[in-house]
Amino acid sequence: MTADTLAPVAPSTSGATAPKIGFVSLGCPKALTDSELILTQLRAEGYATSKTFAGADLVIVNTCGFIDDAVKESLDTIGEALAENGKVIVTGCLGAKGGDGGDNLVRKMHPSVLAVTGPHAANEVMDAVHRHSPKPHDPFVDLVPSQGVKLTPRHYAYLKISEGCNHRCSFCIIPSLRGDLVSRPIGDVLGEAQRLFDAGVKELLVISQDTSAYGVDVKFRTGFWDGRPVKTHMTELCEKLAEIAAKHGAWVRLHYVYPYPHVDAILPLMASGGILPYLDVPFQHSHPDMLKRMKRPANGEKNLERLQRWRAACPELVIRSTFIAGFPGETEAEFEHLLDFMREAQIDRAGCFAYSAVDGATANDLPGMLPIELREERRARFMAVAEAVSAAKLQRRVGATMQVLVDAAPALGRQGGVGRSYADAPEIDGRVQLLPPEKASKTLKVGEFARARIVGTRGHDLVGVPV
Ligand code: SF4
Repeated sequence: MTADTLAPVAPSTSGATAPKIGFVSLGCPKALTDSELILTQLRAEGYATSKTFAGADLVIVNTCGFIDDAVKESLDTIGEALAENGKVIVTGCLGAKGGDGGDNLVRKMHPSVLAVTGPHAANEVMDAVHRHSPKPHDPFVDLVPSQGVKLTPRHYAYLKISEGCNHRCSFCIIPSLRGDLVSRPIGDVLGEAQRLFDAGVKELLVISQDTSAYGVDVKFRTGFWDGRPVKTHMTELCEKLAEIAAKHGAWVRLHYVYPYPHVDAILPLMASGGILPYLDVPFQHSHPDMLKRMKRPANGEKNLERLQRWRAACPELVIRSTFIAGFPGETEAEFEHLLDFMREAQIDRAGCFAYSAVDGATANDLPGMLPIELREERRARFMAVAEAVSAAKLQRRVGATMQVLVDAAPALGRQGGVGRSYADAPEIDGRVQLLPPEKASKTLKVGEFARARIVGTRGHDLVGVPV
């Protein structure tokens, strides 16, 4: 069998030879459009194509799984490609099919294939191609690095897993601006994470409007990563991110997580070090009536009990949160409830806004708008409590030795520098101010991990000596 014939792609201007991809497209017109999409992308990225399996660096087989004959033809083609080439990526309907016992049929019949995806998975196929047959960098053509253009420093990056939001919090207009939740395919998300780590990122910050809702919109559809099925679900996402990060000795930090019961399943992963024991949970308030008026997600959950359970499962856990003081109709008793919650919940890092109306938010129509002075006064009272909690928690770290990721280290850190521990997200939390190292031979480098003995605190920051 010969692979589909395609016009050869012009050689790279830098002289580097582009890898050749063999391609077989089986099945119906829907499969054909998937093939066109993948071939277009291959061409756009400068890959060449091969007329034969033997002459290719790698073969892609787009399969059909409709009737028995089509299944047989697809499996036979994969077998031929494996025999003649050895490096085969399978995509299409047969890729999504389970065999007896629930295993993936293609993997069962041909365990040595490099990757298997279902249909409509051009991005996942391209990720597999990049992994197994990377294109040499061509400085004349490749203006953009493989991880994309990042505005953050090289050693940390944000990973957006979804866009939009299904909630309708009364103070927020994000759903009207960005629409309902749309989760990115899990294969795309994991592929981006892999590329970021490959490019030197040491800390990945998972963001969205509601990280715990990841996959709800696609009913937790099964996608593919590295040829294996993975559910579009927060728990599986975290497990896979932890695996990829471990290979690079990197951190994964979760933002915008709501206190739903299924989040409990992430805590063991935090306790074992797979994901940083840090959760950014935007509580906004504690009083159940206030949470209902705000129309907050998980407003019926018993948040104090949940926090206690999380801390029992992972004693190192650091909680960051944001709150609103002076929301319309907030009574003094409801505000006191919030202060009590803050003292009991021992939120490590808390921010607080005095309520301010946002054009278009339904909260603007709620009765009981409070005078601005009162809103500000409550914000200040809240922050006094929050800062006392945070200061006591920081103080308890004095004497400990912590791993820090170095953000700044002029003169190789000989005069000291700035880092962050697992408890500090960039931009929003405190930092670890690093003093000159104890040993003159010790140096610090931006984007690398160091260990620091904590010797004091300074405001929201810790002070440490690199050891
Ligand atoms: S504040 Fe509420 S509505 Fe707005 S993005 Fe967050 S969860 Fe969604």
